[in-house]
Amino acid sequence: MAKTYDPNNIFARILRGEIPCKKVMETEHALAFHDINPQAPTHILVIPKGPYVDMDDFTAKASEAEIAGLFRAVGEVARQAGAVEPGYRILSNCGADAHQEVPHLHIHVFAGRDLGRMLAKA
Ligand code: AMP
Repeated sequence: MAKTYDPNNIFARILRGEIPCKKVMETEHALAFHDINPQAPTHILVIPKGPYVDMDDFTAKASEAEIAGLFRAVGEVARQAGAVEPGYRILSNCGADAHQEVPHLHIHVFAGRDLGRMLAKA
């Protein structure tokens, strides 16, 4: 079942300029800003400007230009943060099992320390 986009979610409000963010980069299709509760020395969120709930919604509905624009922005953010050589991790939570909190697609970019292995074993 298709998910309905909530135009009043917090990232939609950031995109409209209604609440502030610590902007890192902005392009035609993407906005990157620092996470308010960083989990690593570098913790940046990269979001599409279009109204997409999550990765499922985005990959089903977004244009090629929007998809390319978002992923180019992720790579550029990591380069600008100087994270390529020591390494970085990207992560996007989709839906309930992944504990997605904000219903606007966002890609986390973590860097600046040893990030450990992927997931804790259940
Ligand atoms: P997720 O659990 O993947 O949905 O992650 C949501 C992320 O958004 C969390 O890491 C929050 O710290 C972050 N967050 C929530 N509100 C804001 C905000 N106003 N500005 C920046 N980051 C935020």
